Amino acid sequence: MNKLNVLEINFEFNGMVDTIYPVILRDDKEMILIDCGYPNFLALIEDCASKNNIDLSNLTKLIITHHDFDHMGSAADLKAKYPNIKILASSKDEKYINGKEKSLRLQQAESIYESLPEEQKEWALNFHKILGSIENVDIDRALNDGDIFDWCGGIETIETPGHMPGHISIYIKESRTLIAGDALVIEDGKLCIANPQYTLDMKEAKKTINKLLNYEIDRIICYHGGIYQSDIKKSLENI
Ligand SMILES: [Zn+2]
Repeated sequence: MNKLNVLEINFEFNGMVDTIYPVILRDDKEMILIDCGYPNFLALIEDCASKNNIDLSNLTKLIITHHDFDHMGSAADLKAKYPNIKILASSKDEKYINGKEKSLRLQQAESIYESLPEEQKEWALNFHKILGSIENVDIDRALNDGDIFDWCGGIETIETPGHMPGHISIYIKESRTLIAGDALVIEDGKLCIANPQYTLDMKEAKKTINKLLNYEIDRIICYHGGIYQSDIKKSLENI
């Protein structure tokens, strides 16, 4: 029994309605959550899971695709409530996730602060505060490119740098599904690379798209945008 559920978490952010799509993989032994929302999102995720008849107290693992406030924001809360969960993330992102180094997103935001127009500075400071408030968590297992596990029918770690240098995506061979994290987003129905403002290295991000062309993919789940399954090879080539 290998199952994949895409959670649809609706919320309001900066006065706008938005949606993120964490994924839950299950088999007889494992229940794995991939990415866990913004800070204080635990109740939202629990609610959405229970609507899908999933009880989060059965979670065995959390995989974090990269250090960012919308992907690991509730990791510490999740671990506090369900201490048996093992947390997995890229070996390259471990030092940011556990707080040994300042997050790259915050470093980037701080570095452009002086160049911002005055009217954006207040918003920016607030953004720095949000980024700085992400609670760090320890990684139980660091992941590297090509790591393959037999969980949930078999999953593979693919390093997909660009958006962030330590970004990983998860490939499920059995169902030819790619859980892209933020390596890809859906905007206006189109598959694309996330906004350059948030993609730290555009050249790397494009290399990543080329790398993904080596995989047989029938379905891509984007954290921002949801499920994409039409003409994947061509859509990737177009990027
Ligand atoms: Zn994101």
